[in-house]
Amino acid sequence: MEVLSLHLGVSHFATPPAATQALQAALSQPNQYGPTEGIAALREAIAQRYQEDEGISVTAEQILITHGTKHALHLYLSCLLTPGAEVIAPAPYWFAFPEIVRLAGGQLVSLPANPAKHYALDVQALRERITPQTRLLLLTNPGNPTGKVYSPEELHAVAQLLEEYPQLHVLSDEIYDGLVFPPAKMRSLLQFEPLRNRIAVVNGFSKSFAMANWRVGYLIAPAPLLQQSTHLQHQLIGGVSPLNQLGAAAAMHNRHALWQSYRQDLLPKRQKVLEAIGQLPNLRANVPDAGYYVTLEIENCLQAANPRSPFQLVEEWAAALKDQQGLEVLPATNMGMPSAVRMSYALPAPELDEALSRLRAFVS
Ligand code: PMP
Repeated sequence: MEVLSLHLGVSHFATPPAATQALQAALSQPNQYGPTEGIAALREAIAQRYQEDEGISVTAEQILITHGTKHALHLYLSCLLTPGAEVIAPAPYWFAFPEIVRLAGGQLVSLPANPAKHYALDVQALRERITPQTRLLLLTNPGNPTGKVYSPEELHAVAQLLEEYPQLHVLSDEIYDGLVFPPAKMRSLLQFEPLRNRIAVVNGFSKSFAMANWRVGYLIAPAPLLQQSTHLQHQLIGGVSPLNQLGAAAAMHNRHALWQSYRQDLLPKRQKVLEAIGQLPNLRANVPDAGYYVTLEIENCLQAANPRSPFQLVEEWAAALKDQQGLEVLPATNMGMPSAVRMSYALPAPELDEALSRLRAFVS
């Protein structure tokens, strides 16, 4: 039986043709290094998108093009954190965060979000976690794996915290921001212009542009941190391939058409997955506002809640699902949610149908 991989963080969408064409046209360029901070065409395209789509003013000089979003996270955190610094992140979070924070000398402090409250930001619990060592609040908006898009009220509460705690910075990872389903509406944290001396955003082309293999991301950060990050990237690795950046710029100019086509594909799939889950005993999931993951709560399939279950841990449940049905999902234990799994629905319709019938067979 062929294993269906719903655990992966890549979509089935083809590379944007505009990107491929721009890359092909650039291949005849002479042998040269590009600037460490990124080529003007891409930095300007990114600045333009914030201005046009959200009325937020970002200049090209405020943007550093990085080797993927992960690298943007590494650079920023290495420059911001000092040994022992604490980074608060709402859970569930992307599984790579704890280690990326640790490598930069910090420590991730989990702030569990309640699925029954649609993963709302618990500002009271957040306040209780702030200590003299707290340096950063790390948000993912839209969320991975939750697909949650923060409301204007939640974002204002974050801005309020920044005003109250002068040592606090906020980083918003917005890598899924092109994949938001109305009526949810995404607003970048960059909207709080007076607080931008402590607000940073990372983003990239792997998810919202289906260009994971191009390794292009970006960092928008307060000037001193951006300068240090640029210096670090210069010494470590140099600038991103200008050829790949030209492809990314072309994709960015084409964003509205791309995002509409992705949403059109994903929306009925989201519906199908949620309907299937709704019919299965012991499984629960929230409607994701964005992205292509469902966070499947399987608490009632585990022994603690259900003594008849053979599974103690979510890992055991996921392993049995793979062994018995050839369906691979991702336990969310290392995302700070040990009673859930993440499953992707960014796959061709026939595969998704097959995956859902295997899930049904396993649970029923
Ligand atoms: N941030 C989040 C929230 C992600 O889900 C991912 C990829 N899974 C990344 C960053 C890394 O993206 P990139 O491929 O651009 O390094």
